[in-house]
Amino acid sequence: MEETHPYMKEGLLAELLRPKRIMFIVNPKAGTNMQRHIRNSVDKYLNHKRFEYGFSFTERSQHAMELAEQAIADGFEIIVAVGGDGSINEVASAVMGTDASLAIVPAGSGNGLAMHLGYGRGVDEAIKKINTAEEQVIDVGLMNGKPFFNIAGIGFDGLVSNLMKGSNWRGFIPYFLNSVKAGLQYTPRECRIETDDRVLTEKCFIISIANGPMWGYNFQIAPDARLDDGLFEVVLLKDAPKWQYFAAVPATLTGKIYDADFVEHITTSRVKIISEGENYIHLDGEGTILTGELEFEIKPKALKILVPRQSS
Ligand SMILES: [Mg+2]
Repeated sequence: MEETHPYMKEGLLAELLRPKRIMFIVNPKAGTNMQRHIRNSVDKYLNHKRFEYGFSFTERSQHAMELAEQAIADGFEIIVAVGGDGSINEVASAVMGTDASLAIVPAGSGNGLAMHLGYGRGVDEAIKKINTAEEQVIDVGLMNGKPFFNIAGIGFDGLVSNLMKGSNWRGFIPYFLNSVKAGLQYTPRECRIETDDRVLTEKCFIISIANGPMWGYNFQIAPDARLDDGLFEVVLLKDAPKWQYFAAVPATLTGKIYDADFVEHITTSRVKIISEGENYIHLDGEGTILTGELEFEIKPKALKILVPRQSS
């Protein structure tokens, strides 16, 4: 049918039918042969009636954030992070607070946020899910002003991320080996933790400040964390014999970690952590080492994100 109804040409219906502009920001180092793979997948699986698309490829750290900012300035409405947790953090940092929405094609290690949202682990699968995904608005965490979207951690998991940083080997096996290494190496350290209504001083193996529930690979450190309730789940793994931490790993896969005797969790909108010396930290899996006070605050509903439908 060549003839179109006037409503189709302008007005609400035209706006609804207009293809959305979607930019894929690709970290070519994240997956095998990613440059070609992503183009083929998008050609094959993206709904071309609903989306007009472009690609940008990152060449260095922080480049994903710059490319995302540029794409938003150029009028792209959906910005897709194609990569691991680091790429997602950079792209989301550019998207937060704008009218654009984030989508994710997981291609790298971890991907706790993508897994939780239901994007799965495969490139083709994630692109198919974008076709029918729905927009939601989620909270963003800030640590000393720096955004994170899934989980920040201090202690053991911060050490794991710092160990991962030192090698180019990615995937579950190095993650597992570095976790064992960090588990043997890291000793709980005393911290003062201030939340909305509590102050406690504890020796902690892990302090997780969770917006989303899982680290990646289905390990749930904060099974009841919700992305849109304006609150963090703070999960403390307190001082205990090390074998107890290792023995608790299966409980993180079944959402039962809160049952362990040495685990405490607090729901709060603010956290301040004060400790002596260097802190091993990660924000969404990116390792860093900092000294001094760490202040966490939540920005409610600060990021638009496309969430796959449960059934698709
Ligand atoms: Mg929450």
